[in-house]
Amino acid sequence: MNVAAILNTKGRSVVTAKPETTILEIAEKLTSQKIGAVVIMGSEGKVAGIFSERDITRSLAEHGPEALKQPASKLMTTEVITCEPSVTIDDMMETMTKGRFRHVPVIEDGALVGLVSIGDVVKHHIAEVELEVSAMRFYLNG
Ligand code: AMP
Repeated sequence: MNVAAILNTKGRSVVTAKPETTILEIAEKLTSQKIGAVVIMGSEGKVAGIFSERDITRSLAEHGPEALKQPASKLMTTEVITCEPSVTIDDMMETMTKGRFRHVPVIEDGALVGLVSIGDVVKHHIAEVELEVSAMRFYLNG
């Protein structure tokens, strides 16, 4: 199974924000949308960064409450690891585990076409394993 299969189930919409969005506005967005990260879009529809709930914790710890007034561009992660829809779920799990992040924007032909979270990846991995177990049971029971 690959990332495209995840997007076929969950859809391709991604919650994004502009670089000038304040950290407070991002916190409000994460809460209202019940998500863990927003992709920050720069000019020409390119991914400029990512801002997750962990960045809010870090920003507050490093800068105090004043951080909430800062624009995302100042405190976001700019070296964003992205993937293509053809990447396998196993590879995605490895990337997230090694990189210690839980969100990966999906890019196709230079455009943002989705976002996968660790929750999506684990859910599909479990479904894959369950399918294998049923196939093995079917095979063993004749
Ligand atoms: P997360 O586990 O997704 O909440 O993110 C943990 C840290 O990794 C935060 O500083 C994020 O900005 C950063 N991060 C999240 N996703 C990515 C990604 N795809 N590429 C690079 N950094 C990321």
